[in-house]
Amino acid sequence: MSANATSIDADPYVPGHGDTAYGVDRYELDLTYKAAGNHLTGRAQLTVTLDSDTPTIALDLHALKVTRVDVKGATLSRWSHRSSRLTLRFGETVPAGTVLTLTIAYAGTPRTVPGPDGRAGWEELADGVIVAAQPHGAPSWFPCNDRSADKATYRISVTTDTAYTVVANGSLIERRKAGRATRWTYAMDEPMAPYLATVQIGRYETTEVAGAAVPVRLFHAARLRAVAGQAFADQARMIEVFSTLFGPYPFAEYAVVVTDDVLEIPLESQAVSTFGANHCTRSWDAQRLIAHELSHQWFGNAVTAAQWSDIWLHEGFACYAEWLWSEAAGIATAQEQAVRHHQKLATSAQDILVGAPGASDMFDDRVYKRGALTLHALRSEVGDVTFFAILRDWVTRHHGGVVTTAQFEALCDRAAGRRLAGLFDVWLRQPALPALPALPALP
Ligand SMILES: [Zn+2]
Repeated sequence: MSANATSIDADPYVPGHGDTAYGVDRYELDLTYKAAGNHLTGRAQLTVTLDSDTPTIALDLHALKVTRVDVKGATLSRWSHRSSRLTLRFGETVPAGTVLTLTIAYAGTPRTVPGPDGRAGWEELADGVIVAAQPHGAPSWFPCNDRSADKATYRISVTTDTAYTVVANGSLIERRKAGRATRWTYAMDEPMAPYLATVQIGRYETTEVAGAAVPVRLFHAARLRAVAGQAFADQARMIEVFSTLFGPYPFAEYAVVVTDDVLEIPLESQAVSTFGANHCTRSWDAQRLIAHELSHQWFGNAVTAAQWSDIWLHEGFACYAEWLWSEAAGIATAQEQAVRHHQKLATSAQDILVGAPGASDMFDDRVYKRGALTLHALRSEVGDVTFFAILRDWVTRHHGGVVTTAQFEALCDRAAGRRLAGLFDVWLRQPALPALPALPALP
């Protein structure tokens, strides 16, 4: 069976992406970017391990032109790049367990990748770039095995005009000036899904956020210094509150990029979140999003759903984190937030399954709110001590890995000492909205 055929099953929510015949262990990306003309030149070195005997493997790369492919560890007989799939054909069937080094040179104008829920990926700003790749935009800027279950470590180098600041995932390990350009190199040593890899380029200045257990940096245009400082004034306290509830912050640092542009929605990447200039306010709507994106570092990034149908494991949890922050900040208790959102949902159409919403509804607000209510119902059922122990255990066990709803349910059953399938059935697997159980405030 060809890699193209296997890919159809990799994840039905992102059809045509990913190849289950292999996994990537490491990406080393060396990129040069010219903002004028939005031109990217790249060299990607991937260390991959075959998971099945195969004569071919496929990578995802959209719109950019491949100029050269080299393979170490097997004989490459030919390659082709069609319909955003770079297929490598070997001279023979290569056995499972073989480790290959793939080196791919490419160039062109990056374009966002279309998908069932819109376009995602490398996006030009008025003066700079963001990568907002969830769920299928990673192929817009590097050749990858684009499935969320295939985590790898990364080194990302970007060379661009010295006027710009470059932010990517993880620790800045080198910044070297060469003529009028600067090369920025970041290392992400924790396993990362391709959609969570990011590059952010802009005329930013850096503000260090004091008081957090890990280094936290705010990148923003100079004109936004005061409003960004005010909007993110509680960032260190949020990290502290979530660390108490969910376990230690999962990565070595946290970067927040505030674009000079207006963005429709903020977005999480691994150890990085991106907000628009419009999100720099003290309003609850901005503050809840600041809490939401931060909480994805635990739920979504450290612990990642193996399949997009389990998206509630990211968005339901992040939405519930908003309500927990609401309570910690003295705005409204989680119970009050739950009641409010339950009332709203009761007047909305009850025609999706939160546990499998379908590709076009995976980011529907009902998945977020009802996903959060599922956790609230669980908390009411098992009590605060067991509930927060479950959340911390979930992150500890699966940090760096991928998960399913069935695993979460099994963990809850063990912690509660009884089967909770009935609870998950009515909240996740039936369309009608269940009644909301009562709950005392956090002790
Ligand atoms: Zn989210």
